[in-house]
Amino acid sequence: MALKLFNTLSRSIQDFTPLDPAGKNIGMYCCGPTVYDFAHIGNCRTFVFADLVRRYLEFKGLAVTLVMNVTDVDDKIIKRVRETKTSLREFTGKYEDAFFQDLKTLNCLEPHHKPRATAHIADIIALIEKLVARGIAYKAADGSVYFSIEKYQSAGRQYGQLVKLNPDELRPGERVKSDEYAKESVADFALWKARVPEDGDVFWPSPWGEGRPGWHIECSAMSMKILGPEFDLHLGGEDLIFPHHEDEIAQSEGATGQPFVRHWLHGAFLLVEGRKMSKSLGNFFTLRDLLAKGFTGREIRYLLLTAHYRETFNFTIDGLHGARTALARIDECLSKLREAAGKPNSDSAGTHSFEGRENADSEIGAPNGLTARFTAALDDDLNISAAWGEVFKWVTQINKRLADNSLNANEAAAALAAWNKIDSVLGIGTTSELEVPTELNALLEARQAARKTKDFKRADAIRDELKSKGWVIEDTPKGPKLKKL
Ligand SMILES: [Zn+2]
Repeated sequence: MALKLFNTLSRSIQDFTPLDPAGKNIGMYCCGPTVYDFAHIGNCRTFVFADLVRRYLEFKGLAVTLVMNVTDVDDKIIKRVRETKTSLREFTGKYEDAFFQDLKTLNCLEPHHKPRATAHIADIIALIEKLVARGIAYKAADGSVYFSIEKYQSAGRQYGQLVKLNPDELRPGERVKSDEYAKESVADFALWKARVPEDGDVFWPSPWGEGRPGWHIECSAMSMKILGPEFDLHLGGEDLIFPHHEDEIAQSEGATGQPFVRHWLHGAFLLVEGRKMSKSLGNFFTLRDLLAKGFTGREIRYLLLTAHYRETFNFTIDGLHGARTALARIDECLSKLREAAGKPNSDSAGTHSFEGRENADSEIGAPNGLTARFTAALDDDLNISAAWGEVFKWVTQINKRLADNSLNANEAAAALAAWNKIDSVLGIGTTSELEVPTELNALLEARQAARKTKDFKRADAIRDELKSKGWVIEDTPKGPKLKKL
């Protein structure tokens, strides 16, 4: 079966067909972070979703080029730079580094390109110049350059491909300078913003005078620069559909006169403890907040991956505890499988007849088994819940056969190979010491130090604290290590 994905552009589920005539190469762009703060759990959902899409396309044998931009200049950043009295680069560098560390913590594969807006000012200016030359963009009295929706439409193109817009609400000639605005206030939007005193040192020269780019043009310029004027897949959170992605289409198609993106994918919102995340409600979590509570990137990734990407997901701390239990179940099964795979094949296991033996292959690793059922689920618009259903059915079947002692070493190895194949998509692997949150490793070190100075009371208190966070200390030849309870 071919991969089917919902396309926001057609508002329907469509076959995913690569633009590449050879059917091999895929250009994929995901709107990356605006680096003015640490990534919150809602952002994490989008990036884990993008990673799932990329990994699944690769699993299907496609060669993906993933571009994830870094928005390091926009209205919000400039405001924060002003408030914190730092330089733009110093301010954004800190959050950019943190962001890519967070991606690693969530076991997201590194994007192939991570362009920064400020490193592409010349490309952005060139794109705006093209739009000005085509008469679709114009310089206003304040020195800013705006995109003219009216001129774009009279060039025969449609504004409002991703969202339905009421033509009566389009008010020709009205302008909006802010990067974010509602559908109701749709108007000519800023491509280049003339320098104002509040911008401080953040400005570049341009043919229209000193200023800085608008947010939307950044993504058009960087995506087309790296992936070409037309590419396969553009992805982001659903909050970016309007105006950001609608404006990206308008700018790109206005400049090139050809279709911009074939397939638009949007991930749904996330609620936390049943409500919209907000600092005042106390349900606003960055990834780092959750790590400090003792959860791992692996648990958070798993939980974020349990819901279909188009469903609003209710993220809860209880859900994280559930993720821990579910992962422990998988880990236990895998560890027993490894043990079984290491045993010599000559023992009687595997030669016993047992009920359902004729289905043995489909239960473990053969082509009609786990991998095939997993693929069928994900081909269906990435139906991840069905895919997890298959994983846990498989775990139950494997556990039963291990308990019956009816799985031989070859079968155990085949089952492990099947798991490894699907885990190249899920990316949850198995626990390793690398996944111990840094804060907890620091506690472990503090305990060692306390023991060295014979402060056993403190050492015991730290041990109890680690235990309360779900970790025990295990002595190994390489010294003490933390292990999940
Ligand atoms: Zn973008």
